[in-house]
Amino acid sequence: METFLEIRNPATGELAGRVECATHLQIADSVARARRAQKKWRARSFDERGAIIRRFHDLILDRQVQVLDTIQQETGKTRRDALAELVTVAGTARYYLKHGARHLAVSKRRGAVPAITSAEVVYKPYGVAGLITPWNYPFLLGIADALPALLAGNAVVIKPSELTPLSAVLAESLLVESGLDPDLAIVVNGRGDAGAELIKYVDYVGFTGGIETGRKVAVAASERLIPYSLELGGKNPMIVLEGAPIEQAAIGLIAGAFSNSGQTCISIERVFVQQSIFEEFARAVTEKTAKLKIGFSPSWDLDVGSLISRAHADKTFWHIERAVTNGAKLLAGGKRRLDLGETFIQPTVLSGVNDSMAVFSEETFGPVVALYPVQTAEEAIERANDSVYGLNASVWTGEGKRAREIARRLETGSTGINSTLLIYHSFDVPMGGVKQSGIGRRHGAQGILRYTQAQSIVSSIAAGGGYDALALNITNEKTARAVIQAMKLWRRIPGL
Ligand code: NDP
Repeated sequence: METFLEIRNPATGELAGRVECATHLQIADSVARARRAQKKWRARSFDERGAIIRRFHDLILDRQVQVLDTIQQETGKTRRDALAELVTVAGTARYYLKHGARHLAVSKRRGAVPAITSAEVVYKPYGVAGLITPWNYPFLLGIADALPALLAGNAVVIKPSELTPLSAVLAESLLVESGLDPDLAIVVNGRGDAGAELIKYVDYVGFTGGIETGRKVAVAASERLIPYSLELGGKNPMIVLEGAPIEQAAIGLIAGAFSNSGQTCISIERVFVQQSIFEEFARAVTEKTAKLKIGFSPSWDLDVGSLISRAHADKTFWHIERAVTNGAKLLAGGKRRLDLGETFIQPTVLSGVNDSMAVFSEETFGPVVALYPVQTAEEAIERANDSVYGLNASVWTGEGKRAREIARRLETGSTGINSTLLIYHSFDVPMGGVKQSGIGRRHGAQGILRYTQAQSIVSSIAAGGGYDALALNITNEKTARAVIQAMKLWRRIPGL
């Protein structure tokens, strides 16, 4: 087994850093330490836990240069894409600091019968949450989901992608600098087997990554009967209909398809455009795509960065090549930029894609988007829903009510109107996938309650042995009938 992972910047090939691989014994020990620390942590108030997360929020903004440099060095992405990670982690912290206590508060509920009984729900942390995270947003996905878990009173053990562990390691050290007990947030490094090992010990698994690994995670978690969430991929559609502001929709698509070099689970890969505006829309998108600046640098003037690896660039390029060979038309891009390096691919717009091409239905996870003409809104909805995925979608119609009606008919966990990636910053609403895009939700109330078990506490007056003893008083037909009569009346009493 390897002792170290060497991390190289995929854009330049330069060494970005090294991390030590955790042995299976160290993984078990990390969870055991986290479990011991969590016993004290869960007893602390939300405000005490929040004070540390608040310092962390401020610290990552103060250390933005270090954070952005680290993200860029291990991913080869642009400065702007790295900033998106920082903004989202800060936003997640800010949201749960402001609203987490409300979501976790003991909530009073209706008792079995009014007056003599009452009920309440208490949310208790699971214990140790294991987070297994991918390479596309190593700082964001490495730490953002840990924040609500910690605020809810859990400890976390994080297994980042073997390609990009440095951002998670940095986040771990900044949490400790913010005052967190080092045993409450532990990063364990290694390849996939380290993730598999982690699942053997934790009390909850939060996984983000591909479908195949997601399925293995679900099986492993199910064998232990522990809860899990899966945030998997998407083949996210955008619908553009007559009446839509074409220029704006084209700009929206550029952001939605090409930021982070298209390596975003919610990014747009399929666009259904009404025939009457297809040409105008395609021209606008093509012109804007051709102007995008591609490369790697710590400055802010680049639009599209490197892909994560040579292997991933090969796969992405194969999607383009195979489509073009089989008759798809290249509207923009379509070339590798070997002058920049093996991991750079021009942002690419295709039309004439059909179901014989991988890019039609498989997630590309790169800077490639296909435009499809449709006759009607109905056809757009039907084709958008024709996918095994159901993560995110985007609707542009120029008219809010119609867009919302279409949005509700899309089989996705989220849909943006006049937007593509907005869901990720909409912290008050749940985010996640339907169909093979995942199970469970992050953000909103569900994004923190998922790290807790609901305990219901029900109570009764003690008189006569309490509520449960009431039935003992039904000893003859007359009393039984009176009970039935009372039930008939009960349904008719307003408010009860
Ligand atoms: P994976 O799903 O393979 O990996 C995600 C994480 O799971 C990594 O930390 C990985 O570790 C770990 N892992 C791998 N095998 C196991 C296992 N058996 N048990 C537990 N954990 C495991 O994603 P990849 O990074 O390989 O990307 C593959 C594809 O997934 C992409 O091309 C893309 O289509 C999709 N993807 C989707 C993302 C999303 O945000 N929805 C994000 C990233 C990828 P290690 O890296 O060390 O193998």
